[in-house]
Parts: sequence; C-alpha cells; structure tokens
Amino acid sequence: MADCLFCGIIEGKIKGDIVYRDDRIVAFRDVRPQAPVHILIVPVKHVAMLSDVQKEDYELIGAIHGVANRLAEKEGVAKGGYRIVVNCGANAGQTVFHIHFHLLGGRHFSWPPG
Ligand code: 5GP
Ligand code: ZN
Repeated sequence: MADCLFCGIIEGKIKGDIVYRDDRIVAFRDVRPQAPVHILIVPVKHVAMLSDVQKEDYELIGAIHGVANRLAEKEGVAKGGYRIVVNCGANAGQTVFHIHFHLLGGRHFSWPPG
C-alpha cells in the first residue's frame, strides 16, 4: 500500500532493522524501543488494524504468534517472560495503521497497562 511506513520497510524502500522474514511475515526492531527487546511483527499483507482482520487471516495471525515465540527464544527473553501488544485504534494509541504485534521483553511489565 502506497504511503504506508511498514509496507515501505517490508519492501525495503525504508530502512528497517529486520530480524525475521518469510513470505508472509516480517519482523524488525522498533525505532523507539520501550524494553531491551522490542520487535514489531507484521504481516506482509497490508491490514490496517486488528478490527479489520478477517476469518481468512486467522491462520496468519496464529503464525505471527509462532514467530513471536521463536523470536523471544532467540532474543533470550522466553524464559523470563514477554508481552505481545496490539494497539487497535485511537484509545489504544495506535499510530501506524499497518497491523503490528509488539514483542516486548527483557524487563518486568506492570499490570494494568498505562
Ligand atoms: P503503535 O503505537 O501504532 O502500536 O506502534 C507503532 C510503533 O512503531 C511505535 O512503537 C514506534 O516507535 C514504531 N515506529 C514508528 N516509526 C517507525 C519507523 O520508522 N521504524 C521502526 N522500526 N519503528 C517505527
Ligand atoms: Zn502497510
């Protein structure tokens, strides 16, 4: 999709620190990390937000979580615990409208979230 930041990173038009790629899923480090490990996992397919996910995407969304688990292992945060966050819409603070799964690890996270 034109003018989408994360499509630009996926296509290599915009610089990104890519840590994982397959034909459907790309993961890259967040430019403003909120934890020692902060990776954004995105589908290659442009879906704007979680509320746009359709039934045909369910397997893809599951596969994204599989990638998150493997990256958590690789980054050394699996044992200590980690958090997956999806911000959907204005109240959640979504700023980039290409769905992304934040993988956060390497420190303790409080609950409830801010
Ligand atoms: P949201 O608030 O939409 O859930 O998360 C968007 C995330 O994208 C933020 O954590 C922000 O730091 C990150 N981000 C914004 N611009 C860029 C960029 O150009 N490159 C990378 N790697 N991350 C970005
Ligand atoms: Zn996009």
